[in-house]
Amino acid sequence: TPRLVLVLGDQLSEGLSALGAARKDCDIIVMAEVASETEYVPHHPKKIALVLAAMRHFAETLRDQGWTVAYTRLDEDENSGSITGELLRRADAHGADEVIVTRPGEWRLVQDLDDMPLKVTQLPDDRFIASLDEFDAWASDRKELRMEYFYREMRRKTGLMMEDGDPAGGQWNFDHDNRKPAKTDMLRSAPMQFTPDDMTEEVLRLVEDRFGDNFGALRPFHFAVTRGQALRALDHFVKHLLEGFGDYQDAMLQDDRFLHHSLLSPYINLGLLGPLEVCRRVEQAWKDGAVPINSAEGFIRQIIGWREYVRGIYFREGPDYTSRNILRHERALPWMYWGGETKMNCVRHAVAQTRDEGYAHHIQRLMVTGNFALLAGIAPAELHEWYLSVYVDAYEWVEAPNTIGMSQWADGGIIASKPYVSSGNYINKMSDYCGDCAYSVTEKTGETSCPFNTLYWYFLDRHRQRFEGNHRMGMIYSTWDKMEAGKRRDILDTAKAFLQRMDNGDVV
Ligand code: FAD
Ligand code: SF4
Repeated sequence: TPRLVLVLGDQLSEGLSALGAARKDCDIIVMAEVASETEYVPHHPKKIALVLAAMRHFAETLRDQGWTVAYTRLDEDENSGSITGELLRRADAHGADEVIVTRPGEWRLVQDLDDMPLKVTQLPDDRFIASLDEFDAWASDRKELRMEYFYREMRRKTGLMMEDGDPAGGQWNFDHDNRKPAKTDMLRSAPMQFTPDDMTEEVLRLVEDRFGDNFGALRPFHFAVTRGQALRALDHFVKHLLEGFGDYQDAMLQDDRFLHHSLLSPYINLGLLGPLEVCRRVEQAWKDGAVPINSAEGFIRQIIGWREYVRGIYFREGPDYTSRNILRHERALPWMYWGGETKMNCVRHAVAQTRDEGYAHHIQRLMVTGNFALLAGIAPAELHEWYLSVYVDAYEWVEAPNTIGMSQWADGGIIASKPYVSSGNYINKMSDYCGDCAYSVTEKTGETSCPFNTLYWYFLDRHRQRFEGNHRMGMIYSTWDKMEAGKRRDILDTAKAFLQRMDNGDVV
């Protein structure tokens, strides 16, 4: 009897463990575009289009290789609307009672599959460098789970940029070289773009029709949708952009949405590129002398360090992770996140590019939209839903720990040893947003002062009990205490008045 081999939308890898366990001559590959996946949050239209187009192309590749693929399109009449519904329908049609799948990257689906009336085998997802057991072994005898130490283990394990057991260049991390602001540079390459083929065009029309009202611009659509294209995007990045990646990875410019970033996360997360092959390619460029050590190391750290680490945390912490809210922040997400007007130039730019591209780079996510939400006391679960919806690379295993943990400190400091909060000063240093802003970044109080400046102190003041004892924050509290009492009161009053106006729905 045939078995069903489920391939999910973010499992588009020929080396997938479920495919490795399948028999080409008798098993049936099941792939399904279903409403339960396209609608559980209001995904950006570009994100839906990317996943569906990449799925259809991958199904074609599998068929060309001789697999039997039972593929369900979103607009088919018989579509039951959910992954489990489709599995039951296919099981019935093919007389199968067993399903093989590579473990999904989201607790919701892991549990749905566990609860099915069929025999379901969930195989480990070995497209990662560390298995979940390895991560647990690393984590279990530690009091603090700092990414940096995990990263070193991964360097040793992969041998990436290692020389005789030591890190190349004599240090693990070159971040102190990596905090340069950038200037507009008309000669800087843009990430690689691809013209949609007929199959992708068909998907674009479907998405336009069904999800045209979701937040986000569907067109122009230039993402890679096949492994071949994704490999070309990788090549382009390594040749043209990697060199400056290290120096400028924290910089933000209003007229340059991508700077030296790779835009590879959508492809790695879908499975079109493997994390290790990407890192080996980058290591080779460094060995060839084409890129400096801080760029290669910085990039590799994001992938074998951060990316692997957040996945380990997500599965270790369990399904309730997304509802953590240790700071008890309850404010509703303001409309400006969905494109509503705002006078804050940094937020306006980060949101506008999110709407247009389905993309913002790390520092925009962390230090603009994330920072503002944390300072303003936005409910983390609402913010989590926003990040999960609006970015083309957003899958819960990677988005949730970045949002709940790194950005909002809602997990109580498992990921971030101190909250990522800053005043306008940091944004001003790293970007060119402030010069064109209605607010003044140099004013510390009053209605026209930068809201980040006053909200910053208000946040620290209202969470004093929790953070005062943090050895990395003691200095900040003593700066606050040294301020004149009247000034402190003005700052807090300005912050509260700002939040009041925002809650009233005024444009702030
Ligand atoms: P580059 O700057 O070129 O970095 C190279 C690669 O490193 C990325 O492609 C990515 O695979 C990896 N990487 C870098 N930082 C991280 C990180 N913190 N966690 C995991 N991988 C990382 N990343 C996602 O892939 N999906 C998400 O849904 C997501 N949500 C985020 C939400 C918040 C609040 C924050 C602060 C970060 C989030 N990130 C997410 C991490 C990071 O912002 C993106 O991976 C990165 O911006 C992707 O763009 P890029 O490919 O151009 O990255
Ligand atoms: Fe953002 Fe403040 Fe700068 Fe305006 S002044 S762009 S609100 S940091």
